[in-house]
Amino acid sequence: MKVAISACLVGCKCRYDGTDNHDIRLVAKLESCELIHFCPEDHAFGTPRPTMNLVETSQGIRALSNLTGANLSAPIEDYAKTFFDMHPDIDLFIGKDRSPSCGVCSAKLYDQDKNLLSTKEAGLMAKEALKRGIHCLDAEDFVSPILFHKA
Ligand code: SF4
Repeated sequence: MKVAISACLVGCKCRYDGTDNHDIRLVAKLESCELIHFCPEDHAFGTPRPTMNLVETSQGIRALSNLTGANLSAPIEDYAKTFFDMHPDIDLFIGKDRSPSCGVCSAKLYDQDKNLLSTKEAGLMAKEALKRGIHCLDAEDFVSPILFHKA
């Protein structure tokens, strides 16, 4: 089985602050799978970098910088499209829960006044995976493999 997985979950120090989310238990469960790592934010903005949030705007849901308010969505969405074009045979997507890029149904969504609208949003990379009909899971849900989220 071919699994696309957030790079920080397998130990890459690509989080905004240069740390990782290494999940040894999760990686052990995927021992027999071919893992393909991705990190759209590191690719687009480097590490370390300012954080971002998903915000409901008049142009739809966008990833806005918490530092400058700039719309950071385009390079993340471009990376996602290129990644899935290059890997059309992904069986499963595992995204870091709560990430505005990688979370599957766990990212926070705010309005432009910083009011919390939802805690169940898909991050921008996960959204592209869902759009392509790929089975998607938040890492924290991987213990319940029946609960696939599909577009
Ligand atoms: S959650 Fe996604 S964007 Fe954030 S560090 Fe991990 S792989 Fe990169």
